[in-house]
Order: sequence, then C-alpha cells, then structure tokens
Amino acid sequence: MTHPKDSPALRVCSTRQIKNGKHLLQVAPRLRENFKPGDRYGDLLPESVLAHLHKPEAWAAIQSSPEHAKLLKGVKLPTSGNAATDPLFKGILHFVEMQFKIQNQGNNVVAVSNADLSTAIDYSIDAATPISEYSSLYGTNSIAISPTTITYGVTLSDNIFTDQDLQDWVNKIAANNNLPTSACVVVLCPQGVINRDGDPGNGIGGYHSMANLPYIFVNVFGQNLTVADAPFYYAQILSHEIAEMVVDPLANAVNPEVCDPCGPNCQTVFLDYFDATGNYISTTQTMPQSVNFQYAFYINGIVQPASATACPAPANACDYSPPLRLWVNWNKYEIWNWLIGSLADGPLWVIGPHGPVPVPPGPLPFDARERAERVRANIIESIRELELIGTELTREKLIGALEKRSQKKGKA
Ligand SMILES: [Zn+2]
Repeated sequence: MTHPKDSPALRVCSTRQIKNGKHLLQVAPRLRENFKPGDRYGDLLPESVLAHLHKPEAWAAIQSSPEHAKLLKGVKLPTSGNAATDPLFKGILHFVEMQFKIQNQGNNVVAVSNADLSTAIDYSIDAATPISEYSSLYGTNSIAISPTTITYGVTLSDNIFTDQDLQDWVNKIAANNNLPTSACVVVLCPQGVINRDGDPGNGIGGYHSMANLPYIFVNVFGQNLTVADAPFYYAQILSHEIAEMVVDPLANAVNPEVCDPCGPNCQTVFLDYFDATGNYISTTQTMPQSVNFQYAFYINGIVQPASATACPAPANACDYSPPLRLWVNWNKYEIWNWLIGSLADGPLWVIGPHGPVPVPPGPLPFDARERAERVRANIIESIRELELIGTELTREKLIGALEKRSQKKGKA
C-alpha cells in the first residue's frame, strides 16, 4: 500500500508553519533560548501544532496541553485577514543551481540538472502571466523571470540542511550577484538532499519565506522535467509558491496564503490548465495524467479574496478563469474594479457619466443589452490579444538577450 505521504497530490506547502515558527522565535524567549544552529522550526513545537498556531479556533486546543500552554505563555500570533495589507511582489525571480557537495558521500555533488532548471524557467515564464492575473485580485504586482541561472555551491557533512542554512545561502547569493531586495531567489532541491524544514519524507512540497529578500524553496520529485509536468514532479509546487510569494513577499503573517485554501493543504488541489498560447482551458481537481483534454501547462489554483482564510475554500472560489489585469488610476477605483469583474463573469455593466452602471433587468427602450454584451465580448478578446502580443514580445526580448550573451562568450 502506498503511504499517503508518497501521494503527489498530498504534498503540502509548509510556508505557514515556517512563518509561525519564525514568529515564535521573535516573541517567545523561552523557545528562542533553546533554538540552536541545525534545529528546525519543528523542534520548537510539533509541526501539526505550528501549522495552526495563527488560527484563533485552534489556539484553545493547543493551550489545553499544559506543556504547550507553558511554552506559549504570553505569546500572541497575528491573524492574517482576507485582504493583502502589505504591497505585493514587483520584481524578478532568479533560479539558482544549488550544487550540494556531500562529504560523507565521497564529496559527491548533487544538483538539479541544467536541462531541468531551464525547463523550470520556461515553465515559470508561461505560468507568470496567469499567476500575475489571478494575484491582481489582491493588488498590483509584476513577475519577471530571469532567463539565466545563478550557480552556488555548498558543502554539507551529510545530505541534510535546515531553513537557517538556506537563509544564509540566499543572502550570500543575493550579495554575490547584487540582487536587489525586490528580487526573489528560487531554489529547486534535488532528490537525495533534505531540508529538514521542508522534508519531502514528511509530505512537504515546498515553501516561501524571507531572508534579506524573498525566497522560494521547492522539492523536485523526479528528473527529465517537462513544462506540462504530467508526472507532477514540480510544477504544482513551484506555481503554488510563486503565487503565494507574489501576494505575500514579506512572509510575515500579514497577507494571506492564497493557494493553501484551494489545496493541497486544505483539499484535493485545484489546478488551472492553459493551452500553448496561454489561453485558459479550465480548472479541475483532476490530476494532469487523467485530464481528457490537451494542455500545455497548469498552475495551482489561487483563491478568491473572499475565501482567503477558509480551509478548504468553496469550489467556486478556486474554479474560475484568470481576471483581466487592468490597473487604472481613475478616481472611483473600487467601482472600476467592479466593471473589470463584470468583464470576467459578473453582471453586465455599461459606463455612465459618473462611472460604471449595471444594465437594468427587464425590457429596455433599445437594444442596450445586446450591444453591451457584444462590446463585452470584444473587450475581452482584445485584451487577451494585447496580453498575447506582450507575452511574445517579452519572449523575443529574452531570446535576444540570451543570443547576445552567447555571442559575447563566443568572442571571449
Ligand atoms: Zn502554501
């Protein structure tokens, strides 16, 4: 029998327990005194307790254990709401080729292959557009993917490290490469190397957190990666952590975790599927190997803000097409947002002299409803077209930059 932890669909994101662990270290001196290099946050309190500390309803149950009550005396954790209070991510993701030299394995160097890293980069370039669109429900954001990898080598006595080590490496990588604090470092962890704070043996897929700058940690569960990732080796986890990092780059328990409610933490994961030109196909809880349509890539579902603190979120808060990414500076920002929402799915609106107004139900003096519906369809089609052109242009630019680089290398 397969152990549930071996099931790809059940690999969870440990961001929340890491956030809670980091926060405890700041506010609970008793716990901080005992925390040593090499410890993981799960050494502070059991991970099952850490993952729920921020929930008021779980707090009473945790306190009912005298041992926990003593350790957590006077401790308070902030509860995050549905909205993003802190600004969202606007920057560049840099993938790192981590080379782990493992001393007790004869100095064997373990790393995710170059080919697999560049596949993950290609995937992220495709996934960035819908992730940014869905995340725009929480605020303005932008996601660019660096086409080149950063190489960084570490030496470990055995095949184990912790988040404390990872934070240190992330800061050194940023310093070595002059990365601004607006950037994000992405580390894909090869099979055979274990981050004790994101242990794949405990069913953890990955997490995002904050060193001097945001970073993403992803366990890779196979080799010869593909953008479509039918075997579920990395894409669900990577998209999950990118989306959550984009909405909550500071990882400080203020902004919500926007993927957990749609799974895999709270329920069978909802996946949004897209075709080769980036057009949305559908959202389903069916795994990629079992869907009955062709697709190019998928991303982890991103919850609608109204359900951002629900666990699980209702299906209709996870199953919806990417909202259009229109950022306007008009005065009645809220109202214009309603208009944009109506372009996606909502009631039909038209623009009156003071902003959008809904088309009233019932008979109208002229064919207002038909015309408004036609215009709405045209607007949606035109915006999609602009996004496609933009995506292609960005790709051309990246390819141009890569070619320039290789020409320079050729000359040297
Ligand atoms: Zn998560």
